[in-house]
Amino acid sequence: MMRQKLDSPVAVTRSSLPPLEEYVDMLKPLWESAWLTNMGDYHEQFKEQLKEYLMIPELELFVNGHMALELALQALDLKGEVITTPFSFASTTHAIVRNGLTPVFCDINPVDYTLDAEQLESRITERTSAIVPVHVYGNLCDVERMEQIARKYHLKVIYDAAHAFGETLDGRGVAEFGDVSMFSFHATKVFHSIEGGAVAFREKALRQRLYELKNFGITGYESVEYVGANGKMNEFQAAMGLCNLRHLKGEIAKREKLVRRYRERLSGTEGIRLCPENPRARMNYAYMPVVFDGYKKDRDEIFKELAEYNIHARKYFYPCINSYACYREQYDERETPVAAQISRQVLTLPLYADLEPEIVDMVCDIIL
Ligand SMILES: *Cc1c(COP(=O)(O)O)cnc(C)c1O
Repeated sequence: MMRQKLDSPVAVTRSSLPPLEEYVDMLKPLWESAWLTNMGDYHEQFKEQLKEYLMIPELELFVNGHMALELALQALDLKGEVITTPFSFASTTHAIVRNGLTPVFCDINPVDYTLDAEQLESRITERTSAIVPVHVYGNLCDVERMEQIARKYHLKVIYDAAHAFGETLDGRGVAEFGDVSMFSFHATKVFHSIEGGAVAFREKALRQRLYELKNFGITGYESVEYVGANGKMNEFQAAMGLCNLRHLKGEIAKREKLVRRYRERLSGTEGIRLCPENPRARMNYAYMPVVFDGYKKDRDEIFKELAEYNIHARKYFYPCINSYACYREQYDERETPVAAQISRQVLTLPLYADLEPEIVDMVCDIIL
């Protein structure tokens, strides 16, 4: 088959954008009201629509997903140790550490790369106050086991659901599981508001606390009761979120088609592992991770070969968090061998709604 280096680069992702006029129309009322941030009309509309979409009674918006997670942890008044996964984005562990808490890393399972429920109990000590699992690549954690263990040891469960926007399990919204779930609306995510994030929860008492924490801890005109942060989402972000929400179904459907095409071409190949499909879940097709385990070429070779054709896959997640320069003094990647191994074998392939199917074929041809 003829293959040539592409003239313009193909990145691992590309932000979805609504038609420009649609966004511009949304901006006009902002020029009239001159209310640009601090919980304006779009902020409130966006919040209500998200509650409906995510099927969750309570939700607070934030300037980004990381602030959402950091302030959610603060709102829960956690102490001591928090069990989490080293196979995630920097944000997950940073949010724990920046709250003065001690992360304890538990390994992932080798099937869907989420926190290994079998090993979780062995990491619990008297100081453990919470678990922060991640729905990696949109693969849903074993939420039932997490809940059982959390109940037995009186632990809070805070899901990093940055990859799982709009997903369901047995028809229930993913945010129904655990005490709180954090979503990220960063430009590279399947659904975005340029930058943005949300905390979804059921416990009403958390609403006020989260609201105050994202607004400097201000509790009244003349009172500041907490050391809060500035985590407010502005009106331009909310407007982008509202526009993108209108088109989301179509975007996900396009992604699903591309994922099916990848899977058809790559599945059943010796040494290539794809994530199993969960028949109980509705997925959002945010990522296309492939693990090369005993394949004729290793991950780094394939990464390089694709780059030679101007196709830029991503080593996501590599390296593991417990081997970052800022953590490796206290932690050792060898304590989580599955995460360490997968991080060296995994590649996420280009995937976004408007990716040409021919590029998918080309990527598969190069790999195969
Ligand atoms: C994107 C992401 C975050 C952080 O979200 P931002 O909105 O970029 O702050 C946290 N965790 C995971 C797993 C992510 O992918």
